[in-house]
Amino acid sequence: MKPIDRFVTSLLENPGMSSLSRQDFFQLTGRSLAVGALGSAFASCEKKPEANNAASSIASTPSGPAPKLPATSPPADVPTDVSKPIELEQIKAKTEQQEGPTPTPLSEDQRVGYALVGLGHLTLNQILPAFGASKKSKVVALVSGSPEKMQKVAAQYGVKKESCYSYTDYDKLRDNKEVQAIYIVLPNGMHAEYTVRGAQAGKHILCEKPMANSAEECQAMIDACKKADRKLMIAYRIQYEPHNRMVREMVQKGQFGKVKSIVATNGQNSDNPDHWRFKKALAGGGSLPDVGLYCLNTIRYVLGEEPTEVMGYVHSTPNDPRFKEVEEQVNWLMKFPSGVQTSCSTSYGHHDDKNYKVLADTGWIKMDPAFPYTGLQLETSQAQGTENQIIQHKISDKDQFAAELDHFSECVMENKTPFTPGEEGLQDQKIMEAIYQSAREGKPVKLALVDKKDAFRGPQPKQA
Ligand code: NAD
Repeated sequence: MKPIDRFVTSLLENPGMSSLSRQDFFQLTGRSLAVGALGSAFASCEKKPEANNAASSIASTPSGPAPKLPATSPPADVPTDVSKPIELEQIKAKTEQQEGPTPTPLSEDQRVGYALVGLGHLTLNQILPAFGASKKSKVVALVSGSPEKMQKVAAQYGVKKESCYSYTDYDKLRDNKEVQAIYIVLPNGMHAEYTVRGAQAGKHILCEKPMANSAEECQAMIDACKKADRKLMIAYRIQYEPHNRMVREMVQKGQFGKVKSIVATNGQNSDNPDHWRFKKALAGGGSLPDVGLYCLNTIRYVLGEEPTEVMGYVHSTPNDPRFKEVEEQVNWLMKFPSGVQTSCSTSYGHHDDKNYKVLADTGWIKMDPAFPYTGLQLETSQAQGTENQIIQHKISDKDQFAAELDHFSECVMENKTPFTPGEEGLQDQKIMEAIYQSAREGKPVKLALVDKKDAFRGPQPKQA
């Protein structure tokens, strides 16, 4: 029997035996269970007629004075440092999947305040709800071209009326002291302009992927943020997501030997030719910068290396109204300095499929699906003599948007470079431009050799 159980049992059986004070008790248990267990143990004692004992005198009674307890000192199991999780008692058997540590949210006044720019699908369905799961971030302002929609969203998420801006009023964010960071969730072709203006207004910038429509635009965004001494992060949610983080760890530790190839697909059947995603000026391209980018960025992330050569193929179904300005599908190969070769495909024209497989000399790692917001699955196979050990890894879903938001907030609060800064987005843009060039020219395109691992990333995010 554990000390706490022994104590509670003996107290209930023999209320007069214990002369332990409440504080002694907390020290004895050292666990938060104490609060609830103690409450009920003392409540039971209180009901007993023979009230002349230490335990019942601790419980507040009209007849006896309450003992002097230091009001400010918390029990040993409740850390005063709010960044440390409160420990709860174990409920599940050790063989079952355990809960993670309890959340450690900051209070509202300590969080980084964000202005959200663009109230479309991603903002309404994913980002705004993610603030509820975040620990260090809060939404304090909105920017939209639709006053009615913005009014509704402001009411739903408690944003003040005076903190709602039109696109023409965007620069007035400068005067809103509650706003420390701007999250840009606009069509790709607008990212550069709103990043530059946001940095000039003195705000840190979190920008959705793809970073922009060209390497020149990406460079202008980096330069503007540097000049204004503001941080810039590209919202590559996969790099903050636990399954994909585990794949990277397995690959980098060589858990399955040397990686030989990675095969990746991200495609979906998209519709509505009038949407900005099918307009070159707003989208920059078709499936490649929108969904194909996940294959490219995740492979670079998992390997930590940069490709030295690409070969691309682009195709669009003739006369399909969706593909007048942007491409339908792209297939491409990449060569990496370590000898790894990768094969990727992306499309706006086939049924939803989002996965990748890392093929190494003693096993493989499969993520299927790999890129949706939830429901990711990680499976590995390890060669063991004549058999393969196949494991389906159980990892709880984590709100990917809350994770990336909190990482950026942490960078703002602690003055750190984000893990996925502007340079990471620029590198992807350069590679995508090389893939298009290769497809146009019908031959491989070489890229500058990058010797360093994780050459374009900042320090690793804190969270496990
Ligand atoms: P969306 O079309 O649903 O929303 C875009 C918003 O921009 C709308 O509110 C629209 O009114 C506004 N807008 C302002 N000016 C516009 C203009 N000139 N033309 C069209 N719209 C204009 O798009 P979305 O799916 O929310 O995507 C927004 C950004 O987020 C894109 O850069 C996209 O690549 C990115 N995104 C990222 C993820 C992810 O998982 N990280 C997922 C989806 C989208």
